[in-house]
Amino acid sequence: MFIKRLPKFEYHAPASLAEALGHLSQYSDNAKVFAGGTDLFVSMKKRENVPEHLINLKGIEELKHIHYHDADGLRIGGLVTIGELERSEIIKGKFCTLWDACKVMASPQIRNLGTIGGNLCSALPSADTAPPLIAMGASVKLAGSKGKRTVLVEEFFKGPGESALEHDEILTEILIPSPPENSGGSYFKLMRRRAMDLAIVGAAAFLRMDGNKRVCKNACVALGTVAPTPIRASKAEEVVTKKEIGEDLAAEAGKVAAQEARPRSSIRASESYRRAMVGVLTKRAIMEAYKRIIYDS
Ligand SMILES: Cc1cc2nc3c(=O)[nH]c(=O)nc-3n(C[C@H](O)[C@H](O)[C@H](O)COP(=O)(O)OP(=O)(O)OC[C@H]3O[C@@H](n4cnc5c(N)ncnc54)[C@H](O)[C@@H]3O)c2cc1C
Repeated sequence: MFIKRLPKFEYHAPASLAEALGHLSQYSDNAKVFAGGTDLFVSMKKRENVPEHLINLKGIEELKHIHYHDADGLRIGGLVTIGELERSEIIKGKFCTLWDACKVMASPQIRNLGTIGGNLCSALPSADTAPPLIAMGASVKLAGSKGKRTVLVEEFFKGPGESALEHDEILTEILIPSPPENSGGSYFKLMRRRAMDLAIVGAAAFLRMDGNKRVCKNACVALGTVAPTPIRASKAEEVVTKKEIGEDLAAEAGKVAAQEARPRSSIRASESYRRAMVGVLTKRAIMEAYKRIIYDS
């Protein structure tokens, strides 16, 4: 067990995005930004990260918004905490796939510190916000010395702890398209205990049904903690697309998703258990998404 102090660093507290980007390009590879610090400070105590300059983003008010318009969709500032998302009526009402993930993350204390931007930029395969965001077709906005760019969340993760984020970039916003008519989703997370644990498996499904809510027009299934990055289970999506949703079909999609997963054994679970649970959680996520479309909209 490690009980170490943080290594020495110089502290910067910019009040604007421009100021923060200035610090990042000035101190280059020796600098790290942080938001809640719930991932970074742990890794600094373990000496996995020893930045000489720490840039606190929490003073940047322009990255703390949750804005929704039917035409433009949802825009979430990179510094919005998981707790703020959990308490947001718009997230709970219209983007409940993401809400499902927020309410099962960590503990209330960690949710009140940890941000959605930090969750994505840590780029862990177990990041709970990733499968719902991928399933909903979300993208991230990045700002850096070379300007701004937008990357699909599905393409943002490159490997365990590695993302498309360049060293001089800051994640400023998450963009989620407005949910189309007759659509809905859900996220399920399996943990060893009921709270304060990373996922053994996470599965999100987002379905769009036809006008009669009988036949699935499009499906997106995304999985967490069963590959080096969060992944889409595209063969499982094909199983349910253009079909009438039901228990048997969802179970078949689960079996196919289990084959697509590339889990490994770890202290939390064996490879074979993880694979079996992908089947169970994918089925549940599809059926819950379907029920929400039928009963909630
Ligand atoms: C006890 C405990 C339980 C946890 N449980 C869970 C869990 O159940 N599920 C889960 O997914 N995670 C969990 N976590 C991990 C962590 O809390 C989340 O990933 C959290 O969302 C990280 O956000 P943060 O703001 O604290 O990130 P920070 O620690 O501030 O930053 C994390 C990384 O992202 C970078 N970064 C942060 N914000 C930005 C930005 N806007 N632009 C560019 N780079 C940025 C930092 O440089 C750093 O590399 C847990 C952590 C702890 C300590």
